[in-house]
Amino acid sequence: MKKYKMYINGQFTDAISGKTYLTENPATGDIIGEIPLGGAEDVEKAVKAAKAAFPGWSATSTVQRSEIINRIADELSKRSEELAQLDVIDHGTPINLGRMWEHIGVSNLRYTAGAARALMGDSIPMRQNAIYSLERQPIGVCGLIIPWNSPILMVTSKLGACLATGNTCVMKPASISSLVTLAFAEILDACGIPPGVVNIVTGPGGSVGEAIAKNRYIEFISFTGSSETGKNLMASANCNLKRLHMELGGKNPFIVLDDADIDRLAIQAARSTCNNSGMVCASPGRYYLHEKIHDQFVNKFVDAMKKVIVGDPHDEKTDMGPVVSKEHRDRVERYIKSGIAEGAKILLGGDRPVGSLFDNGYYVMPAVFCDVKPDMTIFREEIFGPVGVCVKFSSDEEVISSANDTEFGLCGTVWTKDIKRGLKIASKIDAGAVGVNTGMLVSGETPWGGFKESGFGKENSMYGLEEYTRIKMMVVDFS
Ligand code: NAP
Repeated sequence: MKKYKMYINGQFTDAISGKTYLTENPATGDIIGEIPLGGAEDVEKAVKAAKAAFPGWSATSTVQRSEIINRIADELSKRSEELAQLDVIDHGTPINLGRMWEHIGVSNLRYTAGAARALMGDSIPMRQNAIYSLERQPIGVCGLIIPWNSPILMVTSKLGACLATGNTCVMKPASISSLVTLAFAEILDACGIPPGVVNIVTGPGGSVGEAIAKNRYIEFISFTGSSETGKNLMASANCNLKRLHMELGGKNPFIVLDDADIDRLAIQAARSTCNNSGMVCASPGRYYLHEKIHDQFVNKFVDAMKKVIVGDPHDEKTDMGPVVSKEHRDRVERYIKSGIAEGAKILLGGDRPVGSLFDNGYYVMPAVFCDVKPDMTIFREEIFGPVGVCVKFSSDEEVISSANDTEFGLCGTVWTKDIKRGLKIASKIDAGAVGVNTGMLVSGETPWGGFKESGFGKENSMYGLEEYTRIKMMVVDFS
């Protein structure tokens, strides 16, 4: 078992209290790490370091910042196998998926390294003999709060944008999957990031997260997590009217029209439902199936779900590993029980896999429900597990109205051979991103962020970089 340290002011350090907590491998239940149990006093120390580092870092040129971010990307690329393996034991991520995430993480960093040099200001030609210039400035000390799913993607998206725009930060990984972020700190250190520019404090949201939210010197928070935590954080963060960027939960509609290629789609639906054991914000939360293809699709979907290989996440043949923790398995199982109790029909799953491999891990078998109605909990709430929720519809108007009958608005997809009809439906789905005949591929270039209780602001792309800036107007009169 390895003992980990936080990273504050360029030093690998224990919590001020000296306290630690243990973290386990969700596939085996084995204890794999001892992590500093940070608290408010560690956040204060980290903020002080970030504040002191801000004048120097924000004065660096965009070329200097771009070079250092590219160095971090190079180093991450060299150590990507090691970090992917760490993700397997810390989060239960199947190794192939972990490798892909590391690859996307490198790509995220390279995007921000380039984008740092492309961010422009503006000017207003308002009157003669005067210049109105608009400059994009860094904000100051940022709080970056990371969820437990796909940590390297979250870390690289947020940190890349934060550094590229000249800010410093205090970052908090989720306490149950901190290891990848802590290994990333070693990369930052090896790449010569100046002390205090990036600080990483480990510990629970209730103490470390709250302390970030309440800190007066933190002027911006980029938060990814559940809508419930997001709302609590907004209430705590009002002490200094800090700016917020919220990437929250979803209950994303996957709409299959009567002319869609259901053979292909049923396989894709199974993959999407079980991708990272369903613990993906963009996962389809509700499958809307036109009544003409409903039964056929459901049968094929169930067949495809049966073929998902549930197993050891180290094994390259494994499609789906465990969920992240015992608590999360209990939560997913509660949703499955509620679906049954509220009258939905369960066609597959709801149980745990059998065999010695699974004895101590937190596995849930892929599940499929049909006859799901809008008043059921599994229709309304984000399950974040490998559970397909199928809803029958009979007209385009009905599906638009039902798909929008949710407090979430993260993303959605529409599948049809009739592009015009697909686009018409997609344009009426109230969500931050909607695909017609394609799933959601999040990358450095594409702005990601939801509507309604799925949050506000964007991650990635130039819009994502702009979140980390503020516009200052300078006026010169030379009449
Ligand atoms: P979570 O429970 O909301 O936690 C997210 C982060 O917030 C963790 O670091 C957590 O710390 C921290 N936190 C908890 N309570 C806090 C508080 N009172 N103040 C400040 N921070 C606090 O979410 P999760 O379970 O880790 O992640 C799953 C959720 O994230 C899902 O809803 C998913 O849809 C969403 N998500 C959204 C996106 C997107 O792009 N929209 C992407 C990925 C995930 P601890 O865990 O250490 O307590």
